[in-house]
Amino acid sequence: MGRGQRFQCARTEMQSPDDAMPETENSFENVMNPPEVVAVETERVSCDGGGGALGHPRVWYEMGDEDFVECGYCDRRFVRKGSPADPGA
Ligand SMILES: [Zn+2]
Repeated sequence: MGRGQRFQCARTEMQSPDDAMPETENSFENVMNPPEVVAVETERVSCDGGGGALGHPRVWYEMGDEDFVECGYCDRRFVRKGSPADPGA
């Protein structure tokens, strides 16, 4: 019995460092905020930057085996709808 209680004590102590972790993860996520994510249903996508000042020549991308592809011009990320890469899935 005595040994079991000591084990519980040790586990409680170890939770202290864990409590600080969610805060760290949140700030990390804010820094990594991607420009834009577009969910698409086809693996072949085209991007022209949305036109206007941010626009660029229309380019086509194919995801192939991946669930997402990033535009080399405007850093937009196209994700396959419903895939693990889709934040809205
Ligand atoms: Zn683009």
